[in-house]
This record gives sequence, C-alpha cells and structure tokens, in this order.
Amino acid sequence: MLPFDDRDGVIWMNGEFVEWKDAKIHVLTHGLHYASAVFEGERAYNGEVFKMTEHHARLHKSANLMDFEIPYSVEEIDAVTMALLEKNGIVDGYVRPVAWRGSEMMGVSGQKNKVNMAIAAWEWPAYFSPEARMQGIRMAFAKYQRPNPASAPVHSKAAGLYMICTLSKHEAEAKGYNDALMLDWRGQVAEATGANIFLVQDGELHTPTPDCFLDGITRRTVIDLAKSFGYAVIERPIMPEEFANTQEVFLTGTAVEVTPVRAIGDYQFTPGDVTFKLLNAYDELVARGDKKAAAAASSAA
Ligand code: PMP
Repeated sequence: MLPFDDRDGVIWMNGEFVEWKDAKIHVLTHGLHYASAVFEGERAYNGEVFKMTEHHARLHKSANLMDFEIPYSVEEIDAVTMALLEKNGIVDGYVRPVAWRGSEMMGVSGQKNKVNMAIAAWEWPAYFSPEARMQGIRMAFAKYQRPNPASAPVHSKAAGLYMICTLSKHEAEAKGYNDALMLDWRGQVAEATGANIFLVQDGELHTPTPDCFLDGITRRTVIDLAKSFGYAVIERPIMPEEFANTQEVFLTGTAVEVTPVRAIGDYQFTPGDVTFKLLNAYDELVARGDKKAAAAASSAA
C-alpha cells in the first residue's frame, strides 16, 4: 500500500494548500508527545461530504473539551474541505481534519502552544472487505474498557482515546477477528474500536446510552432512519450476557457505514432483515446526499 506520507495531491494546512509530501510537522510537537490532538473522519459521496457541518461542529467541540480553540470557524472548515476535494479530484473518498498543539512549549503544560490544523482527503472505498460487510464481521471482546467520564474527556474525538482502540484492534486481528468490542468500566457494552453498536431483539433496536463514548453521527442517522420505518429504538445500558438473546447485531460509523456482525466472542448472530433494511437505507441516503435530500424535501413542501 502507498504510504500516507508519500502520495500526490495537496493537503490544507494552517490556512494554505501545500504539496502532499510537504505537509510535515516537527518531532517536538506537543500533540505527538502528549496527545493534545483531535480529529474527524468524514466521507464524501458523489462530491458531497455527508453531514459535513456536523462533523466540523464536533471537531470544534472535541477541541474545546481538550481545552483548546480551533482558529478556523466551522464555515471556513466546510469551505476549505470542499475546495480540497475539488483540488484533489475526489468525488468519493474519506476526509480527515486534524488539529493539534504545536511546538512552542514541550512539557505537560501546553498553554502557549499554537493550535495547528490540517485536512487531508483520499479515495477510500470500504473499511471492511465487501464479503465481510455482507456476511457480517467477527469481533473479539477487548481487554481494555472505555474509561469512566471522570477519567477522560470521553465525548471528545481526541487522539489519546484511540490508544486503547488500536491495542484492542491489534489483539483482535492477531486472533483472526475483524474488530474488537469494548465494554465500559461498568462492564456494559460500549462500542467497537471505531464505530457504535446496535442489537436487534425481537424486532426492536437496542443501543447503549452514549454516556462514555462518542454519540456517532452515523448512530444518530440510523436511529432516525429506524424510527422512520416504525422500529422502536431503545437507548439503555446493555450487559454483554444479552447477546445470548439478540438476533442481529450491526455497527454504525462514518468509516464502517452500517456493517453486520456475525459473531462476538462465542455469541453468534445471523445478519437479517432489520440490519439489511437499515444498511440499504443508509447507503441510499448517503448516495443521495443530505443537502440534496434536504433541498428536495423543501422544494416539495
Ligand atoms: N466510536 C468511535 C470510537 C469512533 O471512532 C467512531 C467514528 N468516528 C464512532 C464511534 C462513530 O462515529 P461517527 O458515526 O460519527 O463516525
């Protein structure tokens, strides 16, 4: 695979478009040493970034939870994202904004560090292979737990919170699984390493209350779609033993979209009607584009 630091194109960095290979930072960067960094993951479909403004609002919120301010407004970030896609000729792809504290200070305190920001975009088809996505992925139980909100800014999409996700995913992959399921500090089902989780029990959707992990934009979109189809959606604490009386399980996230799950540890599921109905509805919604859909709805009204 082509390394990410050796590609062609342009990256937007601190207010200007720079050659991809020149988008560099110094080794003495606060964000690298102390994880004072936040990021987003977005997908462009047919030249439109799905829920773009929501992602950029969340980037601002993530930074505020990490005690820093992004020096570009949500509107400015929206505009440069569209320009970046255009300059790189990307119609369907992934967008990665990142903001981090710079190199002015090097120590735990980072108050005087400049806040830097970059956005990169690249073509990126599917997170899991098409076969895995249709048949369902297999997940291992992770060793690490999502932390108590008293231990970390759990609602920030902060780089530091991904350390245990990477470790959990590595361990799962080493055992032949596709991903890991993380419980929280109470032993309740939390989420995957980069996606939220839903359970189908007797035709109803159940999903953990997002009180110690990211309340995903895809999660909220899928809840709305499910309600529009008349499904009951229940947000509540869920213990892993409940997988024994769960018929279907799926993940939601910008990267994984809606991905069926066929096993978690020893629990087995059969991806079925509810999962595929929502998977197809989500695929149709993103293909249509939320702005185009909203415009059509308002002109019809
Ligand atoms: N949880 C984690 C840990 C994630 O990384 C993501 C992906 N951003 C999600 C949940 C899902 O969030 P979204 O639907 O906003 O992509």
